[in-house]
Amino acid sequence: MKYVVVTGGVLSGLGKGVTASSIGVLLKSAGLRVTSVKIDPYLNIDAGTMSPFEHGEVFVLDDGGEVDLDLGNYERFLDIALTRDNNITTGKVYSTVIERERRGDYLGKTVQVIPHITDEIQEWIERVAHQSSDGNNGTPDACVIELGGTVGDIESAPFIEALRQFQFRVGRDNICFVHVSLVPVMGPVGEQKTKPTQHTVKELRGLGIIPDILVCRSANPLHDDTRSKLAEFCHVSKEAVVSAHDSSNIYRVPLMFEEQGVSEVLAECFGFELVAERPLLAEWKAMADRVDNVEEEVHIAMVGKYTGLSDSYLSVIKALQHSSYAVNRKLVIDWIESADLDDATAASDPRAHAGAWELLRGANGILVPGGFGVRGIEGKIKAAEFARKNLVPYLGVCLGLQVATIEFCRNVLGMEGANSTEFDEDTPHQAVVFMPEISKTHMGGTMRLGTKPTPFLVDDCKMRRLYGGADHVDERHRHRYEVNPELIEQIESAGLRYVGKDETGQRCEIMELDEHPYFVGTQYHPEFKSRPGRPSPPFLGLMKAACGLEI
Ligand code: GLN
Repeated sequence: MKYVVVTGGVLSGLGKGVTASSIGVLLKSAGLRVTSVKIDPYLNIDAGTMSPFEHGEVFVLDDGGEVDLDLGNYERFLDIALTRDNNITTGKVYSTVIERERRGDYLGKTVQVIPHITDEIQEWIERVAHQSSDGNNGTPDACVIELGGTVGDIESAPFIEALRQFQFRVGRDNICFVHVSLVPVMGPVGEQKTKPTQHTVKELRGLGIIPDILVCRSANPLHDDTRSKLAEFCHVSKEAVVSAHDSSNIYRVPLMFEEQGVSEVLAECFGFELVAERPLLAEWKAMADRVDNVEEEVHIAMVGKYTGLSDSYLSVIKALQHSSYAVNRKLVIDWIESADLDDATAASDPRAHAGAWELLRGANGILVPGGFGVRGIEGKIKAAEFARKNLVPYLGVCLGLQVATIEFCRNVLGMEGANSTEFDEDTPHQAVVFMPEISKTHMGGTMRLGTKPTPFLVDDCKMRRLYGGADHVDERHRHRYEVNPELIEQIESAGLRYVGKDETGQRCEIMELDEHPYFVGTQYHPEFKSRPGRPSPPFLGLMKAACGLEI
């Protein structure tokens, strides 16, 4: 097993995840089976209880693991499927060790960070690195490990120490340390400054880790003398100083690394022969060129709540992008803060209200993504109503299906005040209700989570066609509420059909409106399984309908 450890210095948000994924792509293109591990040095057991507003979206895995969004990048870049154990957190490591201590496993010893926590971290990494993630049951050849946070943080200290020890456990020939840093530009002539990188490398070396490769984030390509200086002061070879400058699209990053000889450095580090023919890279190049060359725009209105931080909807954005490539259109997302569509905003902030409605009216398609809590709900219901009445393509994901159902109950079935009990416990018409099996006392990991099969109940419908005629779909879930089973018959007889339900035939999963170009919703989150060359079917449907194409 070959391990690539990616750490970061100077500041967060440098693109460690994209760096790690891109290195994974290079290893994969060299014929290795690649998996990955993300380490998040926070005390939460998982990302499930964290606000997407602060942290970006919560990514959901097949096994129901609620994890950091970087695992989504790995799944998309490497076309793999990971498990909850591929995301290690301080919370998980400590709770395992403490549980073991309570069982008496440490036989009277004082339980300490070194060696007990650090051993647990190393064993965990080794265990998951050997788990197959490519769907073929093959044991991986290489594992890319990304350490979240910035080197020098108190939180990451036990992990850095574990990784320092790890090089002796697995052998120096089997591990490659990559450090991602920042090269800012100062002054009128645009001098590239190396000092922040020098400092962070010094700090890393002080902790016992000597980087083999330095990845330098900068606006423009590194100058040759900057590269020489970094090599000299940071004790890495010049070939191993990599420029990670701004690029036109994310698919260029592995290609940028390849052009600078990163594959050769990795081959040298790990002692494998680099084959000349690597067709995977040609695929990436074709993708990157394609993305750069689309011109005609398609506007999708994204009616959400966390519109100030686009990372809160990362997988949804990716799924939209993937489907826009498939129809050769340039995706423009018009972000609409859902509360701005609300009637109440017309009085309090008429400009925001007018602006939001202008964007909504101008869009080729409307998307209401997943969400929690009452804020902005009325605006989302308005968006669904607008899409339904004006025959504008609409995709509702999870909450988006629920608001479309509420809207239909209110405005088509005349159930005044219909709502979800999540937003109004005393609603006279409970259109959406709490699922009976869900815990009311514990928030972490207690939703209906992960991949569950959804059989189609009709022979032909748009969604079934989009899924290639399949008899069922396997998609990932994350919700506590469902369409009220008692109202299904009434809703369906008025034309809003649930064409896919769970195996019991009770729980509504896929919604489609008769006599509308594309008005669909899914209780699951199709965005998590979208891939660059294999866009998620419901998203592709939205895109096709938005472009006026046949489904
Ligand atoms: N809040 C809704 C529920 O819990 C929708 C969840 C979601 O959109 N992920 O059912």
